[in-house]
Amino acid sequence: MTQKKYLLNESDIPKAWYNIIPDMENKPAPLIHPATKQPITVEDLCPLFSKAASEQELNTTDRWIEIPDEVRDLYRIWRPTPLVRAHGLEKLLDTPAHIYFKNESVSPVGSHKLNSAIAQAYYCKKEGVTNITTETGAGQWGAALSLAAKHFGLELAVYMVKISYNQKPYRRSMMQTYGAEVISSPSMSTKAGRKIITDNPTYQGSLGTAISEAVELAMSTPNCKYVLGSVLNHVALHQTVIGLEAEKQMEMAEEYPDIVIACFGGGSNFSGLAFPFLRKKLNGETPHTVFIAAEPESCPKLTRGIFQYDCGDEAGYTPLIPMYTLGHTFSPANIHAGGLRYHGGGAIISQLKHDNIIDAVDIPQLETFKAATMFSRAEGIIPAPESSHAIAAAINEALKCKVSGERKTILFNLSGHGLIDMSAYDRYFANDLANYKVTDDDIINATRDLEKIL
Ligand SMILES: *Cc1c(COP(=O)(O)O)cnc(C)c1O
Repeated sequence: MTQKKYLLNESDIPKAWYNIIPDMENKPAPLIHPATKQPITVEDLCPLFSKAASEQELNTTDRWIEIPDEVRDLYRIWRPTPLVRAHGLEKLLDTPAHIYFKNESVSPVGSHKLNSAIAQAYYCKKEGVTNITTETGAGQWGAALSLAAKHFGLELAVYMVKISYNQKPYRRSMMQTYGAEVISSPSMSTKAGRKIITDNPTYQGSLGTAISEAVELAMSTPNCKYVLGSVLNHVALHQTVIGLEAEKQMEMAEEYPDIVIACFGGGSNFSGLAFPFLRKKLNGETPHTVFIAAEPESCPKLTRGIFQYDCGDEAGYTPLIPMYTLGHTFSPANIHAGGLRYHGGGAIISQLKHDNIIDAVDIPQLETFKAATMFSRAEGIIPAPESSHAIAAAINEALKCKVSGERKTILFNLSGHGLIDMSAYDRYFANDLANYKVTDDDIINATRDLEKIL
């Protein structure tokens, strides 16, 4: 294991987040109000989200948005994160490619999610909110928000997708350690949850369902806001600290990526790493750089979904988002990368994909665990099952270089570590995991009625 690390100083933590929308030629279509079918306004979003997040969500003009000092101060707990040259993996693959990864797994909760959790909790506190609520899949977002909520003295209720609540008890324990209340979703505590349980008593839950429950609680509880961990523009915005740091670190390494890769659930870690580098592609400086979103074969919205307005949640409470989607009623297989089991991609990413500015690949579950095992043995870090999709995509690109002899520079995001996902690794080693390929019929059935939405 011969790693080379590129480390920044605390003073290098970015002072502003990067908003990509002003640099996009084709802006994403507006979010639409589910009831009035009119474009969403800040006033429409405010009952649900903090005012600051609502404004950021709809900001299409300011390229740089200042990071509040209180947020930067908390970023200092683990930021700047290291950029690592994966010499061990290069050697194992015997590739001429240079492989770098940005290590977001070093945050106290083990993933990139804290970058936005801290920002959103801060704005809620500043605006006098006392309670917040959210959903979580594998528990990464819930764990991040639990820590952020505790820091700012907010009460937090987390709806955790039932399958993960049972499969990943330690993330539940983490949230409880930080002081949050965790509810298995679907639950009997909301109208949306009760309806789903009544229709389908054995339903194992999905992010779409958990979002409906959290939104319903926020709308029916005084002084309570909803906080979302992916998909929306303001979440992508907060995550750009990843790419802004990585830009400086690639400069230290005296290289520029030919290929930028991140795994893709709703798009927050992909956006976070990619947007600062995309800025240079959009302004013509680095037209050759390729961007690859790596999604699961069992939930292939960017590679096989349709580009269409859809709800962000199962019950249809959220704004309608112009997105690549498999349909908000799509029920993904119970893969271990719980954070990638979401039916749609964010509006910005979907537009960029539609315009062929970014690419996407979908990867079978077994290939991700094979890649994760290789990476662990070569680099020492055991990756989250979500991040393993990015690793698998990076390995595929590096192997293409081996065939072609090209010496490309590959940069991927290690969005989190997998130390709380070892039961998934156990099942992989016991040959107890499967691939889940979605059929065309599954997609047709789940997207059939979408055109009626708008
Ligand atoms: C949540 C999560 C993801 C997926 O979410 P995105 O918003 O698509 O980034 C990826 N990796 C890890 C470790 C996560 O916790």
